Amino acid sequence: MKLILLGAPGAGKGTVAKMLTAIDGSVQISTGDILRGAVKEGTELGKQAEAFMKAGDLVPDELIMGIMKERLQEDDCKAGYLLDGFPRTIPQAEQLKVLLEEIGDKLDAAVNLDVPREVILDRLTTRRTCVGCGAIYNVKSMPPKVEGVCDKCGAEVVQRDDETEEAISNRLDVYNEKTAPLADFYRNEGMLMDVNATSSDAVVDAIKAKIGL
Ligand code: AMP
Repeated sequence: MKLILLGAPGAGKGTVAKMLTAIDGSVQISTGDILRGAVKEGTELGKQAEAFMKAGDLVPDELIMGIMKERLQEDDCKAGYLLDGFPRTIPQAEQLKVLLEEIGDKLDAAVNLDVPREVILDRLTTRRTCVGCGAIYNVKSMPPKVEGVCDKCGAEVVQRDDETEEAISNRLDVYNEKTAPLADFYRNEGMLMDVNATSSDAVVDAIKAKIGL
């Protein structure tokens, strides 16, 4: 399957993407994970992205499009992909449309995960992420078996730098201003699927029904 997962930070895009990869071998492509990897490795991309990310601001569109142009043409994308955190702005969505035409790819849908703001705030402040494999935990509802250690790969589980209260509040404002308009963009393209995303299992079932899996 080839899907865009839209929704605020903390709406569950990453969790849903990971569940969907198990169904048909589609790969999760998270621009946030790619950027965090680049920051950790200290690459040129990482250096350019770091300050924007730490403040909860968006990284410039040109950098993101450069990453995605390469990533979408890698071999593993032939099995399908779940775009998690991309596109994030109208220019990114417009450029993605052109890129997909160029490479002859077609998306099944843009799925908009709708979650109330209180739920999002609670999820983001209690969320913890594995620095090794990106697995997501929650200190209240799904802690790792050993505190601070990933069940899956044994690496450290931490609170992300951009999950301080100040950065979260900025990320939600940026989302409302720059990313929320993408729902209308994809509605006009006839591709939008709106789902109530309070339960990730229900989201996965709705997506499977929609694309006939
Ligand atoms: P995420 O893990 O998707 O919440 O992304 C973490 C941070 O990476 C965001 O707050 C942005 O600073 C940056 N980022 C990720 N994806 C994008 C994107 N498509 N466009 C611009 N910035 C992005």
